[in-house]
Amino acid sequence: MSFMDAREHGSKPGSGGAASAQNEAIDRRERLRRLALETIDLTKDPYFMRNHLGQYECRLCLTLHNNEGNYLAHTQGKRHQQNLAKRAAREAAEKPVQPQPQRRANIKKTVKIGRPGYRVTKQFNKETRARSLLFQVEYPEIDEDAKPRHRFMSSYEQRKESWDKKYQFLLFAAEPYEVIAFKVPNMEVEHTDRFFSHWDVDNKIFSLQLPFRPPPRQPDPSAMMMPPPAAGPPPRPMPPAGQPPPGGAPPPGSFPPGFPPMRPPHAFPVGIRPPAPPQVLPPPAARPPPQR
Ligand SMILES: [Zn+2]
Repeated sequence: MSFMDAREHGSKPGSGGAASAQNEAIDRRERLRRLALETIDLTKDPYFMRNHLGQYECRLCLTLHNNEGNYLAHTQGKRHQQNLAKRAAREAAEKPVQPQPQRRANIKKTVKIGRPGYRVTKQFNKETRARSLLFQVEYPEIDEDAKPRHRFMSSYEQRKESWDKKYQFLLFAAEPYEVIAFKVPNMEVEHTDRFFSHWDVDNKIFSLQLPFRPPPRQPDPSAMMMPPPAAGPPPRPMPPAGQPPPGGAPPPGSFPPGFPPMRPPHAFPVGIRPPAPPQVLPPPAARPPPQR
């Protein structure tokens, strides 16, 4: 029975003073509903979900509710309580026999020392018409025994700018440096031995070569890279070595700590697919297409 039903059934038509009694009942329920809303933090309820139609769902019972009060009433009902008990029993049965290791309460916080120096080299194979990007990131002050990591992030996943399915982000992290991200085309990556990463322990340079599958037609070279929005001071320069990147490399955007964990080098799986776009999408980018 929904909350609205309860209200309707609560009235006693025909009885004396029905209107005022009904009003009192409604007032009382409304007070209780508000009290419940104040007392119970729905944001901490793992089964409470607001869908894109503005309705509320119980993810445990798969029921729909028109308002929070209705949802709260449902959580006190028999069906929800039974489902809770069932789930608790199932989880207890599935729990490993060994006691769970205690979760590390405090995540190690490192004082960030700024962005690393970097170099990006665009590479083009005239025979195969395959393009690739070579990233070299310098981590001279990297923590002892630490290894730089990299991770791909889809445009939908990042929160720095409006999403654009034409691009993805390649993030590099190594403590105590800030995470940096490069905006790269969302082209298919070739998962051959041309896709590699290498951590040069002696020179403290992390290299990653990102080969793109050659397209049937020659792509617009200006679409190869776009600078991500960068804030703060520019990264420290890197001593010259080898060839300078033709066309210049974009400054890396700085990502805050607390991003999802990154992959260690040499451990990138096959098949990077951006997740489905969120239901609430930011407005499309106002930026005009890159021109050169
Ligand atoms: Zn429920």
